[in-house]
Amino acid sequence: MASDPAALADAARALADHLRFQQALGTRDLPLAGEPLGGASSALRRVEKASAGCTKCKLSKGRNTIVFGSGDAETRLMIIGEGPGEEEDRQGKPFVGRAGQLLTKMLESVGITRDEVYICNIVKCRPPGNRNPEPDEIAACAPYLSGQLGAIQPGVICTLGTFSSQHILRTREPISRLRGQLHQLGGAVVIPMFHPAFLLRNPGPAYRRQAYDDLKLIRREYDRVRGRAPAGA
Ligand code: URA
Ligand code: SF4
Repeated sequence: MASDPAALADAARALADHLRFQQALGTRDLPLAGEPLGGASSALRRVEKASAGCTKCKLSKGRNTIVFGSGDAETRLMIIGEGPGEEEDRQGKPFVGRAGQLLTKMLESVGITRDEVYICNIVKCRPPGNRNPEPDEIAACAPYLSGQLGAIQPGVICTLGTFSSQHILRTREPISRLRGQLHQLGGAVVIPMFHPAFLLRNPGPAYRRQAYDDLKLIRREYDRVRGRAPAGA
């Protein structure tokens, strides 16, 4: 049991990160407070460590891998999907299947690469048969997501699809009403967008055009929070 004190200290720090984010949620009009201890990547590693072997919800039974998240901990842009699919569950990485390939192309269409952002999901384990995540599962997994938000403290959050957008914005409004506008969460701006899996199921110019409008909003806000002039300005 030699590693116990270290594990305890890690857990305490992960909890501090989590509490800081919860506090920020409670004061939605204030910026997220304070740098996480030891910087974003070590704060993120603490949360990931805390999630190892998690059995807090029934999704643990069917998963192969916990798909925690991937990308740049220092980024200003965080993208939050729903839950891992089959390919993600196999590889342990978010958005690497068909929907993921479309997401990658969508980001590239506005000059953003996957490597420069951070991508994760509201539930870290694959729902069986790709069903929707259930409220108890989303609630059980929420502290990890809060920990990720607290570690990265993104300026821009893109939520993909209904579940992610409703969870982050604490609303029951459908994605069709939430998208196309900016929402405020602590010091971050939230931009809900159609889930790429929805776009794959519903091909056609109307939804694609709306998705592209949202991507341009993301690009604009991402430039703004980094203090960059938008491309072409
Ligand atoms: N869909 C999601 O919401 N997340 C993934 O990681 C893959 C597909
Ligand atoms: Fe734990 Fe989240 Fe996986 Fe449920 S989905 S077992 S809460 S990591």
